[in-house]
Amino acid sequence: VRSVKEGDTEVLVPIPEEGANFAPSAAPVFFNPVMEMNRDISIAATSAFLKRIKPDPEKTITYVDALSASGIRGLRVANEIGIETTLNDWSEDAYQLIQENIEKLGIGDHTFASHKNANGLLHEKHFNIVDLDPFGTPAPFLAAAARSVIDLLEVTATDTAPLCGAHLNSGIRKYAAIPLNNEYHSEMGVRILLGRIARELSLHDKAMVPLLSHATRHYVRTYLHIRRGAKQADKMLEKMGFIAQCECGNREIVYGLAVHINDKCSLCGKENTISGPMWLGELHDPDFCNETIEELEQRNCKTKEMSIKMLEFCRDELDVPMFYDQHLICKKLGVSASTIDTLITALRDNGYKASRTHFSGISFKTDAELPDIERIIINIR
Ligand code: SAM
Repeated sequence: VRSVKEGDTEVLVPIPEEGANFAPSAAPVFFNPVMEMNRDISIAATSAFLKRIKPDPEKTITYVDALSASGIRGLRVANEIGIETTLNDWSEDAYQLIQENIEKLGIGDHTFASHKNANGLLHEKHFNIVDLDPFGTPAPFLAAAARSVIDLLEVTATDTAPLCGAHLNSGIRKYAAIPLNNEYHSEMGVRILLGRIARELSLHDKAMVPLLSHATRHYVRTYLHIRRGAKQADKMLEKMGFIAQCECGNREIVYGLAVHINDKCSLCGKENTISGPMWLGELHDPDFCNETIEELEQRNCKTKEMSIKMLEFCRDELDVPMFYDQHLICKKLGVSASTIDTLITALRDNGYKASRTHFSGISFKTDAELPDIERIIINIR
């Protein structure tokens, strides 16, 4: 083990000497330095959330890092935010390392190591904040997490191939939904994951309000404010639905779970490809993005600049399902692409809403339909 510093927290992690060929998953206890940005945003978002809900100072707020490995994520929460933290991992090596880290940081008064199957722990106890950061898919833990969580659910998924439709059958098995692997596959992954989480929460008469969701490199991460009540859950499920996509580029967004979906494209009459069920509601709360940015500005972290930039993109992106890839539309039309900002200005000048998106630098979001987008792209020249 070696000591690394992330944020204001120094933690012992299994990390080899400089230059060694190192696969994080091959180490006895997992540690992935590439996820520092994910953890920096987590600390800022968790802190912003607590300031937003202003918990009663007399009440204890509990947080669980259900799949802790070295504990770095939860140790940072305990050390940098100071709430009651449980760090759980079923691996003996991880458990030992977590205990060592708690002792070294001197945070044993409000930080507890746990050596259980995460599902067992989450079924036994309710936590205000539940964080799932697994290897690959969080699917096997969602039922227990949905039951346990009271206020905030934070989930990472690194199985982007199943989520985005690149490994179709695996995605169908894990998420009970059919993804579509096309130009907007990264957003598809986020919405398939959120759709599965929404259905798990509804079993417990709980609902989610997404505060922030992003697809970064090889993972998806989401922060969901939990609301209680059957009515809230019913309202949430109204934001589930399907997408009928035609190869001509036209897409139809269909809200609902038992709905009529056109099997033929309403523009060209060709066969539609259907994906879903998935979450078609909002991905972010722009105010929450700002609150998280403020936290990042005030905190010590190495990824500050990059993290803030990404959050600004999330904050400013139009919250409608599925971005458009400008290059793909231009290729079909046989015209060259303009800058994204030129296109966004042109869409807005024509009375539509439009924005860039954090998902892709060559893409945009708009409430315009495809024929209007194509007309505007042609008229830019
Ligand atoms: N959250 C960590 C971080 O930020 O560095 C990384 C966690 S690592 C990707 C996943 C961990 O989950 C591994 O340490 C593994 O031992 C643990 N794990 C996998 N399945 C588990 C289960 N059912 N119960 C408890 N721990 C589990």
